[in-house]
Order: sequence, then structure tokens, then C-alpha cells
Amino acid sequence: MILTINCGSSTIKFQLFSADLSRVLARGAVNQIGEPGSHLSYRTNGRSLHDARPFPSHHEAFEASIAALLDPKHGAIKSIGEIEAVGHRAVHGADLFVESTLIDDEVIAKMEECVPLAPLHNPPNLIGIREARKLLPGVPQVAVFDTAFNQTLPPKAYLYALPYRFYQEHKIRKYGFHGTSVRFVSQRAAEVLGSPIAALKTVVCHLGNGVTMTAVDGGRAVDTTIGFATFGGVMMGTRSGDIDPGLIFHLNRALGLSLDEIERIIYRESGLLGLSGVSNDMRVVAEQAEAGNEHCRLAMEKFAYMVRGYIGSFAAAMGGINCLVFTAGIGENSPQIRAMACQGLEFLGIRVDEARNRAAVGGKEALPINPVGTSVPVLVVPTDEEKMIAMDTLRLALSGHPN
Ligand code: ADP
Repeated sequence: MILTINCGSSTIKFQLFSADLSRVLARGAVNQIGEPGSHLSYRTNGRSLHDARPFPSHHEAFEASIAALLDPKHGAIKSIGEIEAVGHRAVHGADLFVESTLIDDEVIAKMEECVPLAPLHNPPNLIGIREARKLLPGVPQVAVFDTAFNQTLPPKAYLYALPYRFYQEHKIRKYGFHGTSVRFVSQRAAEVLGSPIAALKTVVCHLGNGVTMTAVDGGRAVDTTIGFATFGGVMMGTRSGDIDPGLIFHLNRALGLSLDEIERIIYRESGLLGLSGVSNDMRVVAEQAEAGNEHCRLAMEKFAYMVRGYIGSFAAAMGGINCLVFTAGIGENSPQIRAMACQGLEFLGIRVDEARNRAAVGGKEALPINPVGTSVPVLVVPTDEEKMIAMDTLRLALSGHPN
């Protein structure tokens, strides 16, 4: 069996896959680690477990997660030896990791090197890896990097037009995120279409609380929207997305806001929340727009307009588009945003069938939403980052491990 682990600053999420990856045998999470409301929730085979108690650190949370998997009443395994490999979500691999990798001491040291690039994300990832190695010694562990898929971007796409030394000396460049999700859905799209991935020029719209647009040409990422610091591209739940950086100086000098205040505004108070004045959740914004709230309507319009702009831009970057994919919370569940984003793209061969679009909500299967017979397939593909992590883990674990 394969265990996947996604370790955040105050959470551990885990899933246990059957050896052939066809089934999720158990899934669980410890939330609010180190905070007063910390608790573990866990489900397997229709049974569930809720354990609200102090989890002062990731160490206790990790031990409790393994104990839940082994629990005689609620557990999914009888002995820890049944876990044959562990896959870890790893956020930032900089340019040191171009693909998923088996973890050894050298990999951990390289991941440490990447910490300055993702100070909020990489340290908890490393904690998860260390805890898993302690509790499951000798079991192969794999790191699957969010940034790896975007390592195929050409320099013209990943470089900023800053003095070159900032790239050379400080690794300042576009890295891109959500790569695990984008890789999964672009491969799924090729499977569903029965097309070799090499023949596809796909734009993937990963529209969740975080938003990433990616141009995938022949299965390789060639451009993406999120840049250096999990920022850029389309507006998100609370992040503004693309803004003129001159604004930051203006907010500081003319309005007297400190850098910390500006950071808070553009990361936490902008995007859907900022424009709508109501919520960072598209469901709430859409409801209020429906009820006549003009700011909410405008927030949706701006969101869809930015998505549409990048579909066009990336079609131009690839010299065409023959597959468009919507995924993640908004992409999988909002026919309205999908229709608005595709409006006016008929000149690229992109059309949306109203009934198919309305029907493709919250499903588990990839579904086409273009009218039958139109040239560009438009697909809603549910993403599954854990499955992608498990797939890489299985492949690499079978190839032999360094421990
Ligand atoms: P994350 O980036 O945190 O992984 P998700 O992919 O889970 O986020 O997406 C979360 C977003 O999906 C939320 O902003 C929510 O508004 C949106 N969402 C979920 N369900 C719906 C729905 N039925 N209609 C519109 N938006 C939805």
C-alpha cells in the first residue's frame, strides 16, 4: 500500500492507496496542530473517527495518524509493514528538482536549500518527511514537487526582464505552482480524448482558491501564470494576481502604507474578496451576484476576463490550442465561470455547450462541455493531486530505493 502525505504549517493530510492505486483505503487529516482546536479526523470504509485533543506538534499528529491507520476498530491496516512506500507533497524544488525523486539525505539537504524560496511551505514538508522516515524506517519515500512540472519552461517564459544577475545570483525567476495537479489533469485529458499527449496543445485552467493557468504543449509545460512567490496571473480568492508593481511604490509613498500592510492587502484582502467586498468563496460571490450585488457581479466578470486573457495568451505562446481543461474547486463546479471565461473565444474554435456545461458539476469523471463536433475539446477534469503523488511514488519505489 502507498501512503501519501501533505504536511502544511498546521495540518497533516494523508491518504492510503491500495497497491494498484485503484482504491483509497483510508484518508484523514490532523488540523490546527499546535493550536487550541487541534483534532484528527479519519475515514475508512464507511467508518470514521474524530479525535479532538491537543496535538502540540507535527510529531504527535503524525504518530496519531499512523495509530489511526492501525486502530483495531477503525484502522485500514494490521501492521505498519503493510505501508510499502510513502509519497510526500513537496512545494518548492526550485531548479534543483525537475521531477519527483526518491528521498535520501542529499535530497533533504537540497530541499533545505530551497527553504528561502518557500519559507512557509517547505519547512512543514521537511518535518513530514523526517517524521515519516523516523516512524517508517527503511520504507522508500518519494518527494513530489509542485514546481517540478514547470521546469520545462523555456528561459523566455521563466525569466523576468530584470538585470540578469538577479536570476544568476539569486535564482529570481518564474517557478510556477500547482504542477502536480496540472500534470495529472493534462494526462487525464489525453487519456479521455484517446490522443497521444504529444499531439495536444492544452491550456489548463486550475481555478481553486489559488489559481494557475498553464500552457502544456505535447505534455510539457511551456508557460504558466504564478511567478516567483505564489503570486501573479489571474486574481485568486484573496490575492490580486497581476498588478502593476508601480502600485506598490505608490501605496507606500503616496498613501503611507508599510510594506507589511501592502503585502497583507495584496495577498489576503484582494482578489474575489477584495473586489466583491463579500467573500473569497466563489459560491458566495455567485449567490450574491445572482441576488443583484453589483460588486460580486464585477468580481466574477474580472475573474473570468483574466482567465480568458491567459487562454488567448497561451494559445498564442503555443501557436494554437486543441484542448482546454478546467479543474479545481471553481473549474470543476462553476458552469457560470467556465461559460464566461470561454465567451468570445470562438475565433480559437472554443465553444461551450450550455447543457453539457451545466451538467458537469462536482463529478468524479472527466467530461467534455464543448458542443459535439466542434474542433477544440473543452473538458472538465477533476484533479487528484494525491493520486498523482501515489502514481509517482509507486513508479519510483518499484525502481529501487536508496535507503
Ligand atoms: P484550493 O486552492 O484551496 O485547493 P479548491 O480547489 O478546493 O481550493 O477550490 C476552492 C474554491 O472552489 C473556493 O473558492 C470555492 O469558491 C470554489 N468552489 C467550490 N465549490 C464551488 C461551486 N459549487 N461553485 C463555485 N465555486 C465553488
